[in-house]
Amino acid sequence: MAKVICQNCDAEFDEKEVKCPYCGFLYAPGMEEKYMSDLEDKRQALDVVDDEARADYKKEATTSGKKALRAIIIIAAIILVIVGAAKLQEYLLFHEKYSAEEELLWQQETFPILDKYFEEGDYDACFDILYSDENRDHHIWDWQHYDEFTKILDEEFESDTGGEDG
Ligand SMILES: [Zn+2]
Repeated sequence: MAKVICQNCDAEFDEKEVKCPYCGFLYAPGMEEKYMSDLEDKRQALDVVDDEARADYKKEATTSGKKALRAIIIIAAIILVIVGAAKLQEYLLFHEKYSAEEELLWQQETFPILDKYFEEGDYDACFDILYSDENRDHHIWDWQHYDEFTKILDEEFESDTGGEDG
């Protein structure tokens, strides 16, 4: 460490001193040095504060960004579920109504023909209509003579097999 001579009392002291430790005479280069180093300390302190503030801000921005993203995802999921449920309900209602209307039309068209064949005793014709591939999905059990007709079929089947046995 370099030493300097006091301009006032000729005593020797460290150049980092702000004033002579013996007579108190102010030492300008030391003061300047101290001022500059204090300034540097403050600047560094400010830098640290700045860095911390920036890190905090970044952290907060990231956190709030994540929160916002999560909120958007949740809202989107809720909307998707609501829209999906509405669409599904709409589809089911439409399908149900459509099927019911179709079925009613089919029955209004088909049952009188079945009635006619049934009354005539033409069970083969009834069977062909009831068990055809295209009528497979219709509610044939809604026909007024359905139970009677199936009973007749069973009896015919039994007498057929019975005949073979005897
Ligand atoms: Zn001195």
